[in-house]
Amino acid sequence: MSFLDTDIKYLKGVGDKRAKLLDTELEIRTFGDLLYTFPYRYVDTSRFFKISEFSGEMPSVQVLGRFVGFTTEGEGLKQRLKASFYDGSRFMEVVWFSKVSFFKTAYQPGVPYVLFGKPTQFRDVWQMAHPEVNAYDAAKPPQGFRGVYSIPDKLRKRGYSTRLVSDLAKNLFSNSRINEVGETLPPEIVGRYSLMPLLEALSNLHFPQTPERLQKARERMKFEELFYLQLHILRYSRERGRRIRGHVLTHIGKYFNTYYSNFIPFDLTGAQKRVLKEIRNDMRTGRQMNRLLQGDVGSGKTMVAFMTMLMAADNGFQSAIMAPTEILASQHYETIRDWGDKIGLRVELLTGSTRTKARKEIHEGLLSGDIHIIVGTHALIEDNVQFKNLGLTVIDEQHRFGVAQRAKMWKKSPVAPHVLVMTATPIPRTLAMTVYGDLDVSVIDELPPGRKPVQTYLKFDNSRMEVNQLINRELKAGRQVYIVYPLVKENPKLELKSVEEGIERVRGMFPDVKVCMVHGQMKPAEKDYQMEQFVSGAARILVATTVIEVGVNVPNASVMLIENAERFGLSQLHQLRGRVGRGADHSYCILMTKHNIAGDTRKRLGIMTETSDGFLISEADMKMRGPGDMEGTQQSGIAFNLKIANLASDGQILNVARQGAEAVLNAHPELLETPASGVEQYPGDELPLSPASVNIVRNELRIRFLKSYDWSQIS
Ligand code: ADP
Ligand code: MG
Repeated sequence: MSFLDTDIKYLKGVGDKRAKLLDTELEIRTFGDLLYTFPYRYVDTSRFFKISEFSGEMPSVQVLGRFVGFTTEGEGLKQRLKASFYDGSRFMEVVWFSKVSFFKTAYQPGVPYVLFGKPTQFRDVWQMAHPEVNAYDAAKPPQGFRGVYSIPDKLRKRGYSTRLVSDLAKNLFSNSRINEVGETLPPEIVGRYSLMPLLEALSNLHFPQTPERLQKARERMKFEELFYLQLHILRYSRERGRRIRGHVLTHIGKYFNTYYSNFIPFDLTGAQKRVLKEIRNDMRTGRQMNRLLQGDVGSGKTMVAFMTMLMAADNGFQSAIMAPTEILASQHYETIRDWGDKIGLRVELLTGSTRTKARKEIHEGLLSGDIHIIVGTHALIEDNVQFKNLGLTVIDEQHRFGVAQRAKMWKKSPVAPHVLVMTATPIPRTLAMTVYGDLDVSVIDELPPGRKPVQTYLKFDNSRMEVNQLINRELKAGRQVYIVYPLVKENPKLELKSVEEGIERVRGMFPDVKVCMVHGQMKPAEKDYQMEQFVSGAARILVATTVIEVGVNVPNASVMLIENAERFGLSQLHQLRGRVGRGADHSYCILMTKHNIAGDTRKRLGIMTETSDGFLISEADMKMRGPGDMEGTQQSGIAFNLKIANLASDGQILNVARQGAEAVLNAHPELLETPASGVEQYPGDELPLSPASVNIVRNELRIRFLKSYDWSQIS
């Protein structure tokens, strides 16, 4: 039995009863579990807070003072013990809800104690419930940093504090077998990046010697976590690159050249040209392209996708472009059909609402090769959609598609088609390097010339009149207006505005124009009809939920009004704002909130008024909400799988870890071999990022990797 796998009940100070508690409350079953249960916070033990300094939301703090007296209140289960505690600045109350008779005699009045706990305020009095209490020795005042472990309420109520874990950790570290805990990073890497050795790092995480060493210890653990993750991702994409061949598309021919010389309606931006070059280089190598194209709303991704399809057509291949909604698919279809018409390419649209007869013709056209470009929704992945020779799949707003859906598109051709996935939700670099770490990334970081930034205002409900005036002015000028609500229907539990009540109010306020409405609970046909009303200009105001977020293009719209803006994420607001400013000389985005939004929310919305750079916004969004809430991370669960590293703040370490992983893969080609466990047999050739698959592969790689090292060290 290895030391780390030893049952926790054998640790000094545990035993059967506590082992059960540790298992159910803290998920600590083995020595290893305990070793890897880290404090979530550290306190400077030489720092005492005064009760007079206490304020609203303080974490647990230390107070030095004396108990003045104890009183018991209530009877039976409701019984509790209250103590008055004085620290020279003020009094506070200390409360125990259980073990009353024990605590009543446990501490002596008039003797100095150090209390550690979270201050809460109850009617003007400061309280601490079940604090940790330690005797204070003036000759040996506490110093240094100590870790605070998270202790569930159930344990607290039983009188346990964070000391439970730290005492056990102490016992673990004084166990003579602790040195059996072996290094988990190759010496080569530990040396090259001057990392703290594992055991030293673990010890400092539990019992920091100095703040600097704690910092180094945390860095080391973060590095290790990110290193193996990157190794897994890079190894996976290299191995896939070796295994999967791609169509060789070398030729630039009549379609591309004719369109480019005679029909393209504008000059490509520098960024568009650069990305097209990157794509072209990918597609002629004989390897399958897997490229993520990031570009802010309105940066011109559609034209890049179209020109890529022309390259495919010039080499005799068909292309497919898949969009997440019918509305978006039809807009792509209209755009691409107009462009394609000019050079004799046949473009068709296939969605869930395509009629049976048309559908049959499309199926035939795809199979015979008559159709060069197919635009569609999920309908494209159905099994009966087959191609003569699919060379390229473009996926728009890819985060809307599940992994399995994307994978199905790969299977439409005996040789995997090249894949270009496009997203207008800028993804912070650190996220892209993990969640999409197996894709090559291109960025369109330049908007077409002449775009005017959308003027963005934060307004409260009391400026409603002013806002209505602005809308009226724009309507008079012939413009169109979006009004977005967080809810479809009113919900008595939430004080939020909804589309269904909103539309009545909007109709009342702007009686001279037609108002239409779309939301996610409508039947697709009804939604399309309503949307069409707005796209054609028949309706001048569109009242909607965020279903319009993705891709809809109505250049005549000049106002985006967002109700309860505080309810939306920054990236979402940015997407919504991107619906305007596509044609009009001036356009406006108005973020409406109720009056009393709090500091953080105000700051968040303030960012919207300050910048229109989608990357800055997404970075800020991730810093504030944490990587787990970002679009694209939920489906993979990767952000939650990280125990200690944080994608929002550890970009620097991530970069180094990726470099390290790259170097290791270059030096150790044997790592590319398929592991014996068979976990490589992923469905659909998509990067597996579920916590389970990452863990399995990580462990396997670690073992295989370390094995080669042990050998070289022994010999
Ligand atoms: P997105 O990247 O959000 O998908 P689109 O491809 O819809 O953006 O492009 C937005 C608008 O900009 C479209 O009307 C498109 O025709 C136009 N556009 C694209 N590229 C250029 C360019 N280089 N110069 C001028 N207009 C462009
Ligand atoms: Mg688009």
